[in-house]
Amino acid sequence: MKIFFYDVAVPLPIRHCFTYKSDQLIRKGSRIVIPFGSRKLIGIIVKKIVPDEVIKKDKSIKYIDSVIDQFALFENSIFDTIIWASEYYHHPIGEVFQSFIPTSLRKAKTNIDIDESLVNNSIYEIEEVDKKFGLTSYQSKAVNRLSNLKGFKPALLYGVTGSGKTEVYLRLTEDLIKKKKSVLILVPEINLTPQLLKRFESRFKGEIGLYHSKQTPKKRLNTWLKAKFGKINIVIGTRSSILMPLKNLGLIIIDEEHDQSYRQSDGFKFSARDVGIKRAQEEKIPIILGSATPSLQTLRLVQEKKYKKIDMLTRVDGKAPPRLITMDINNSNMEGGIAEETVDAIKATLKKNEQVLIFINRRGFAPIFQCGQCGWVAECKSCDSNLVYHQNKNRLICHRCESAYLANNSCPECNKKDFYFHGTGTERIEEILSNTFLDTPIIRVDQDSTKKVGSMDKIIQDINSADAAILVGTQMLAKGHDFPKVTLSIILNADNGLISPEINALEKISQLLIQVSGRAGRNNNLAKVLIQTRYPDDINLNKIKTGDYLSFAMQCLSKNKKIGLPPYSAMCMLRCSSPTQKNNINFLNKAVRELNKKSDLSVIGPLPSLISKSKGNFRHNVYIQANQKSQLNRILKRLIKELSDWPESKKVKWTFDIDPIEIN
Ligand code: ADP
Ligand code: ZN
Ligand code: ZN
Repeated sequence: MKIFFYDVAVPLPIRHCFTYKSDQLIRKGSRIVIPFGSRKLIGIIVKKIVPDEVIKKDKSIKYIDSVIDQFALFENSIFDTIIWASEYYHHPIGEVFQSFIPTSLRKAKTNIDIDESLVNNSIYEIEEVDKKFGLTSYQSKAVNRLSNLKGFKPALLYGVTGSGKTEVYLRLTEDLIKKKKSVLILVPEINLTPQLLKRFESRFKGEIGLYHSKQTPKKRLNTWLKAKFGKINIVIGTRSSILMPLKNLGLIIIDEEHDQSYRQSDGFKFSARDVGIKRAQEEKIPIILGSATPSLQTLRLVQEKKYKKIDMLTRVDGKAPPRLITMDINNSNMEGGIAEETVDAIKATLKKNEQVLIFINRRGFAPIFQCGQCGWVAECKSCDSNLVYHQNKNRLICHRCESAYLANNSCPECNKKDFYFHGTGTERIEEILSNTFLDTPIIRVDQDSTKKVGSMDKIIQDINSADAAILVGTQMLAKGHDFPKVTLSIILNADNGLISPEINALEKISQLLIQVSGRAGRNNNLAKVLIQTRYPDDINLNKIKTGDYLSFAMQCLSKNKKIGLPPYSAMCMLRCSSPTQKNNINFLNKAVRELNKKSDLSVIGPLPSLISKSKGNFRHNVYIQANQKSQLNRILKRLIKELSDWPESKKVKWTFDIDPIEIN
């Protein structure tokens, strides 16, 4: 009997594969059941190996129990992208596979029947009546140029807000569907999927797939299988859908490519945009990155002619974008973060029967809940973070671990009942404004108000059907939506972004300001954005204020080039956590000593994280910067090999965070 040997990835935080054998020839990317210690695990075949004599005679190598599916879960291009991702992000291979397997296929030995419902190609009929308008000249140029891309070609579709990017996506999809190819479209937030799905469904009669984490595992599996076996050819999803196994994939579209939500920040930390680019390369297909505020990384690659850039510089309605106006609040009367003058501006807008959008970066009522007698501040028991008071629930909630505590009637330290709030969140703004504007609907849009499936859809309907109204919200409100009746947008606290020490703070704040301005004033020439600030003379703020994102971004880019910051250098955080600080420090100090032996690296730390304790564990980081990604990659690979054997590394949990979006 011929025996075959395989490298198998197991769904555990282990950085290498395990060898198993079988008398069957099994394709790479297949799901198998393996004995692992006393357990049975589901593994993925990574490769068939040519055994040497030692392996052949090794009695400890076990047999694979069974092959689960009749097919490989991952075809070559997706398989290779996963291998790349595990190497690029230095993340355990089994866990990377795991992140791209629908939950229902991860543990249970689900058998899949490949029946008619999966394989019969959907027929997409194009609804010509949905094409209500002719394309603008920018749009038709964009469609022309983008549909002529052949092979692996990343292209930035730089379209100002309201320039009609979605229509371009629809036309390109139509083109590919006619050629019997599939299209994958990613948006950064679950909340943006219903609208986009609607746009696609009114253009294409046929089944369109949806994939995001708020769906039931069953629904997700259904989309995944239908994509894999050719039933559906169009999928709209969030970052977890980037490796959707669509048959005959012809194009990937990443809408709002600059958005930080494409970055997964816990577990396997990856950027769906960057994984998407790798996938497009493996599939030899074009990928379109759409944005009105492209990331510096993408702009660098455009500048170096590695990406094409296609412009759409005017709104479809021909109107000018809202003006950005700074408001100096140094001498203003403030209540809960809103200046008196701001309230006046809101009044004037509501009087005209128009809507106001207020952006604030925090949900809840107030981020600090303090005793006025003894100074006690409510803190989470398991994290080093203040509890945020949520008035609606009358709870103090930790925004890190979501633990909720009753808001005490009396202070746990001094027993007095004299609490007050510092800072402002969406709920507080809602309350202040509802006291001032008694008859105006105030619509709050944040994680708390949109928890239920479909709630965002309902909110959008409410906004569109209301006349004068005030919308108060977080990031969610700043992204992608189109609120035609909003003519005044207000940014309550842009200063945090302007003075933040984070590496990409300016990139983020400029994107935010421009994106917020993009929500408003479509169809109105007088729309404006008010930015409350204590730094009205800030150079950066004044540049962003001009509304010319691209030239501001290009300036940031050339500055970063001069001082060697990303995207002109490679960055990584070695993150470590454990129940004792000493273990963290010992481990990281040893890592730093090793790293310092290598030349050309800049290594800082160990330092405590900004939130130095989370869910009961202390957190420390070391920050590593190198000139080249390839150089950093090589050094980390070597370091991981060494540190896996250190006794110090056994006492902590450590991970690498490659291209981090936060350095804290
Ligand atoms: P973007 O994503 O670039 O901000 P959208 O794709 O959301 O813009 O388009 C904004 C609005 O303009 C949508 O309501 C869309 O239906 C409409 N629109 C798109 N193209 C045209 C066009 N050529 N003429 C008129 N309206 C258009
Ligand atoms: Zn007290
Ligand atoms: Zn907590």
